[in-house]
Amino acid sequence: MRPSDINKLLERYNLKAKKHLGQNFLSDQNYINKIVDSASIDKNTAVIEIGPGLGSLTQKLVEKAGFVLCYEIDSDMANIIKDTIEAPNLVLINQDFLRANVFDDIKEYLGQYEEIILVANLPYYITTAILIKILEDRLPIKKMIVMMQKEVADRLSGNPKTKEYNSLSVLVQYYTNVKRLFEVAPDAFIPRPEVVSTVLELEKKISIETKPLNEEFFLKFNRLIFSSRRKTISNNIAKGLNIDKKIIAETLVENGFRADIRAEALSVADIIKLSDLFYQIKKED
Ligand code: SAM
Repeated sequence: MRPSDINKLLERYNLKAKKHLGQNFLSDQNYINKIVDSASIDKNTAVIEIGPGLGSLTQKLVEKAGFVLCYEIDSDMANIIKDTIEAPNLVLINQDFLRANVFDDIKEYLGQYEEIILVANLPYYITTAILIKILEDRLPIKKMIVMMQKEVADRLSGNPKTKEYNSLSVLVQYYTNVKRLFEVAPDAFIPRPEVVSTVLELEKKISIETKPLNEEFFLKFNRLIFSSRRKTISNNIAKGLNIDKKIIAETLVENGFRADIRAEALSVADIIKLSDLFYQIKKED
């Protein structure tokens, strides 16, 4: 969709982009093609799109995919898509993705597809919440091609001992292989966002080499050790798990970690190892 098409559509429906819903419409056909091509979709693939907006990506997705399931919170946008994209292989659910029962929807619409790929120019104000929902709920999505604000992409691909590395980096790198595809300048959108955007590929790991003893505990432990960044993990663990500081220090040192170590110095594998150790201590409590 070109800038003039976007402006015409908004005018025709007497609408303005809603900032509070993160509406920045992609208006550069090269990037639209690049995003859809990166997904390597064919008629055997089902696609989930979050936030189709005026349909820039959706139009191309319905041409390539076997089926496209979209979630759009804004009924104005949902009506435009219904008016302008006529495709038998498209279902649009006018709902907040964060509240949707995606498992049920997948069963209803995408049951026959072996491969589900998510493609989205994400609403930036809830990028993190969307990724947490997809990963922690373990939605059966093989690969995600997702555009987000560059700063968030830096976190997802962040390495230990950098300021970008946090609990979200660990969560995403635990479940997926993260690949940075390309950056998109603010000029490619209407209205122009204030930030640079990055498109990432997040491919679900086929098998996770080292699984924690208890995945729920690991996810909680990961959030906990990063919860107060200026504190050592010892302080965060003592507070969050109610374990004596002496026991925490002993456990850390016996397993080759400094007693005053901070979460950002730990690799994903270290966090799994520590999660297992403290899971066992709590179990014996
Ligand atoms: N895909 C379009 C494009 O690339 O031009 C629009 C992308 S725009 C950045 C984000 C879209 O997500 C908007 O259409 C917005 O209304 C929608 N949105 C915002 N919050 C949402 C939510 N919680 N669930 C579903 N859609 C949402």
